[in-house]
Amino acid sequence: MLNIILFGPPGAGKGTQSEKIIDQYKLTHIATGDLFRKHLGEGTDLGKLAQKYMDEGNLVPDEVVIGMVDEKIKETKANSSGYIFDGFPRTVPQAKALDTLLKEKGEKIAGMIALDVPEEELKKRIKERGKTSGRTDDQDEAKIENRIKVYQEETLPVANYYDGEGKLVKIHGVGSIDEIFGKISSEIDKLK
Ligand code: ADP
Repeated sequence: MLNIILFGPPGAGKGTQSEKIIDQYKLTHIATGDLFRKHLGEGTDLGKLAQKYMDEGNLVPDEVVIGMVDEKIKETKANSSGYIFDGFPRTVPQAKALDTLLKEKGEKIAGMIALDVPEEELKKRIKERGKTSGRTDDQDEAKIENRIKVYQEETLPVANYYDGEGKLVKIHGVGSIDEIFGKISSEIDKLK
C-alpha cells in the first residue's frame, strides 16, 4: 500500500490536487472536511456535533475525527491499494493516532507532501471559492482569519512531526494546477 498525507493551509489546493492524485495513482481519498460536510448534509449526529466547530473555523475534537477516520479505513481497506489523507491529521495527537491505526494494520505513512502558499494568496483563493462553494466558513473574513490562525498554531506542528521522521516533502503551491501536480507526482513516484 502507498499511504500519503497531502498537507497545507486552508485554500492551499489540497482538494484540487487530491482529485488528480487519485486519478493517477488509484488511491482511496480520505478528506475529513468532505466527510464532515457529508454528515452535515445528511443531518447525522456526527454532522450536528461537527457543525458548531466548522462554522467558526475551529477544529473538531480529535477523538471525533479519529473515530471517523478509523471507521472509513475499516470500510474501505479490503478494496484499497493505499490512501491519500487530505485535511487529516491536523493536530499532533491525530498524527500519532493515525500512525497507531496504520501500524495495527501492518501499514505506515510513506510521506507527507506539504503545499506551501503565502497567506495573502490563501485568503484570496478562499474568498473566491466562497462565491460558489456555499461554505459559510469561506465567506466571512473573521472565520477565514481564524482558520489560518488555527492552522499555524495547531496544525503546522504536524509537519515538524513528520519532518522528524524524515517524511516531509515541501512543494511550492503557487502556479498552474498542472505545474503543481507535476511536482507532486514526481515526489510521489519517489515514495513508491
Ligand atoms: P479547509 O479548506 O479549511 O482546508 P476542510 O474542508 O479540510 O477545509 O475542513 C473544514 C473544517 O472541517 C475545518 O475548519 C474543521 O472545522 C473541520 N475539520 C476538517 N478536518 C479536520 C480535522 N482533521 N480535525 C479537526 N477538524 C477538522
